[in-house]
Amino acid sequence: MTRGLRFRLTASYALFFAVLLIGVAVLFRARLESTLNSQVRETLNEQWAAMKGYLRIEKEHEKDPDEKAFWYHDTEDPDEVTIVLNIKLISLITDANGKVITEGEVPDQNKAGAPGPAVSATYEDIGIDPPAQIQARVAALLKPNTAKSFWTERRNSEGGRFMIRGGVVWDQRHRLPYYVALGMPLTRYTNILRGYTWIYAGMIPAALILSLLLGWIMAGRALTPVVAVAQAAQRISGSNLSLRIPTRQSGDELDYLVLTFNRMIERLESSFQQMKQFSADVSHELRTPITAIRGQLEVALFTAKTTEQYREAMFNALQDTDRLSQIVRALLLLSQAESGQLVLQKSRLDLCEVARDLVEQFQIPAEAAGVCLTADLPAACAVNGDRVQVERMISNLLSNALKFTPEGGQVWVRLKPSAERVEIVVEDTGRGIPTEYLPHIFDRFYRVPGSGTAPGPEQGLGLGLSFVAWIVKAHGGKIEVDSTPGAGTRFTVKLPAEGVSAETMELTGQPATLA
Ligand code: ADP
Repeated sequence: MTRGLRFRLTASYALFFAVLLIGVAVLFRARLESTLNSQVRETLNEQWAAMKGYLRIEKEHEKDPDEKAFWYHDTEDPDEVTIVLNIKLISLITDANGKVITEGEVPDQNKAGAPGPAVSATYEDIGIDPPAQIQARVAALLKPNTAKSFWTERRNSEGGRFMIRGGVVWDQRHRLPYYVALGMPLTRYTNILRGYTWIYAGMIPAALILSLLLGWIMAGRALTPVVAVAQAAQRISGSNLSLRIPTRQSGDELDYLVLTFNRMIERLESSFQQMKQFSADVSHELRTPITAIRGQLEVALFTAKTTEQYREAMFNALQDTDRLSQIVRALLLLSQAESGQLVLQKSRLDLCEVARDLVEQFQIPAEAAGVCLTADLPAACAVNGDRVQVERMISNLLSNALKFTPEGGQVWVRLKPSAERVEIVVEDTGRGIPTEYLPHIFDRFYRVPGSGTAPGPEQGLGLGLSFVAWIVKAHGGKIEVDSTPGAGTRFTVKLPAEGVSAETMELTGQPATLA
């Protein structure tokens, strides 16, 4: 199941969702933390400003050796009392050396309690900063062009977090600097953050489960048509290739897949059709001479009386046997060629020499047919090819040209070499091929209707051009045919010149259709 598409889709969806959720949570937490932090700092700054209004550091009596901290406020005003108490709740006042100074009793203010050191109990719990640290801070704060406040985070004995703001306050006569530190508990701040973290941590698994569920359902829905397509495809077999998978008309990728699949089936069907046609053709082709042989033998056996009649029947039977073995040989060769068993023996080949020899060989049948056969060849023209096959190719084209050109006609063989390719042209002034038959002439057993007489030794097998097409293809070339009924036909074979690969050879024109 884990290898199924549905599972993998769901898992990727959930994973993506989880990463997104965690990413958002982390980002949001950082943002929340910084907002809360700046809120605390703002409150502490406000307290600092208020502190400056109430605190005075001065000598109680002229003769006193040290100055004291006095908090001036109206003890009758509950608001002021709260404000000062709030400020003093977490506070520390020392001199520039870090020694905690004494809190003085403000006259006329009816202040209760004995004056003590200017440090609150909470601050003591957090821990009074060591004198050396305070000295360093005061020195840093007094430097020109530096920050006028010092921020730090501390913890008390129970681990509670506090934000501390330190700074310098001058005595009343502005002679001596004093260090004042005010603090604020971060309990509220940490509680909010913790609450948020818990809520989110609880939400993530729930959201994940939900996304897994949703993903599973969505992936299932998306894949349902795929299953339907697979089931439809299963119904298609070798015997019912005419079946097609119905498209859903949604224009999506799946429809595209179905269309591609249907096109593939179409091609398969046509190949199957061709194969069937081929076997039918083969049996038909073989049956014709066999029936003829049988007929001739029967004639010899039952009706022939004279030696002459026997001889004639035997001669006819022999001719048909020849044709039979010719067909079988050609078929065997073609099937070997198309199944890749016929390996080309390629070598450097002078096409001019091959063409010249063939033209010479065909002069006698040409003269017998009253056709003028001419060659127009350059001095030399090299290709990389299999001599036997190239000869077979040219001779098939030549014999067709002679066969379909009436007396008094002309046949030309021309070679046109260029840097990239060599063109072999076999042209005649024969009967030509009607355009509608042109696409089929390279098919096996195809003969243009009306091109031959009754089946007999003169009629072609309809295999010659199939061979030519295969040879051209095996040499990385292309073949074109150009024909005008009643005026003549021109076959042009383009082969890559020696040293040029078939891919680099730029061939124009329509390639031959191979059976
Ligand atoms: P065949 O053995 O019958 O010649 P091919 O495969 O060589 O078979 O040719 C297929 C058909 O193409 C021929 O039957 C003929 O009708 C037509 N054909 C081929 N070459 C020519 C040509 N030069 N002129 C006219 N028709 C041709």
